[in-house]
Amino acid sequence: MKKTLTRTTEDLALYLQKLADDKVETSISWRCLNCGETHSCNLLEKVRSVKNEYLVGENKPDLSLFDLNGDLFAAIHFLKRKSIDTTMQEAYRGKCMYIQIKLETGDDFNSLSQKLQKPDFVAICVNPKCETCSHPMQKVILWIVDGCCWKCEGDMKVAAVEAGMSRGGSYVGPERFTLNEIEIARNKGVVIATHYSNTQRRSYLANSCPHCNAFVGDYYLFTEYISTTGYGDVDFEKIEAGYYCEPCTEPRFL
Ligand SMILES: [Zn+2]
Ligand SMILES: [Zn+2]
Ligand SMILES: [Zn+2]
Repeated sequence: MKKTLTRTTEDLALYLQKLADDKVETSISWRCLNCGETHSCNLLEKVRSVKNEYLVGENKPDLSLFDLNGDLFAAIHFLKRKSIDTTMQEAYRGKCMYIQIKLETGDDFNSLSQKLQKPDFVAICVNPKCETCSHPMQKVILWIVDGCCWKCEGDMKVAAVEAGMSRGGSYVGPERFTLNEIEIARNKGVVIATHYSNTQRRSYLANSCPHCNAFVGDYYLFTEYISTTGYGDVDFEKIEAGYYCEPCTEPRFL
């Protein structure tokens, strides 16, 4: 197996070198363990040379990708294990992009060149980092759901923000929107108006019906609008609206 893998990584190195020489866009995408999102990049954009089993410090990645200055840009490991090993990234932290691909019996040049496009683990998060705690931030997703008014059954667009516990819940209504999010939602045709709650004895912003002025409280926002998008018969849109930091309690935006 060892010998075969060496031969295969030799072939892969030659293959990647040719793609780099020809400046072929070679995009890879991966599910990020830091933020849970899927990131992608052009792996070979800055790469000028590719070597297999090249000694990098005390480590010998299966493939090493070097940039124009001869600096290590990415290290790729093929792993003969069932699960990924995130501790191996430590040796490369701050030095280069670290990529891990799980090997399965029968893997050959074709299957590995396919797997390269969707690595099992990439130790990099492309999202901006929080200025307070330096944790990679997550995208704020603004949902616009083409729903109906619960009262008059007329067309009613409803907006919600998905920003985790940093906003006190998975999905929140306009009351906890930023000014920017309110503006985006209004531009998409959502009516956001101030309502007075007798039970809570206070005024707050809520998604409102353009026909009868009924409004949607936070509880019904999820059960009556967001969750219905899962059935496929409701049109909805998801808009990226900045970033937030989950570990920090206060929302932060760029
Ligand atoms: Zn990420
Ligand atoms: Zn933070
Ligand atoms: Zn209505």
